[in-house]
Amino acid sequence: MATYDLVCLECGHVFELFVQGFLKNEDRQCPSCGSFKTRQKFSPFLTNATSSSGDSPSASSGSGYS
Ligand SMILES: [Zn+2]
Repeated sequence: MATYDLVCLECGHVFELFVQGFLKNEDRQCPSCGSFKTRQKFSPFLTNATSSSGDSPSASSGSGYS
């Protein structure tokens, strides 16, 4: 029994999958839109930041960045 975090590439829905053994292609269907274009989500923080407007030169010397 393993748990997989998947993210749908079509609608962006993130869901967990409980699978016995390992993940098969037919298990990877998005429960929201039904697409099979999903991918495994390895990083727990992937979709929050990074895609705001950009052009803010505060990448280095972060202060209090948890
Ligand atoms: Zn979807």
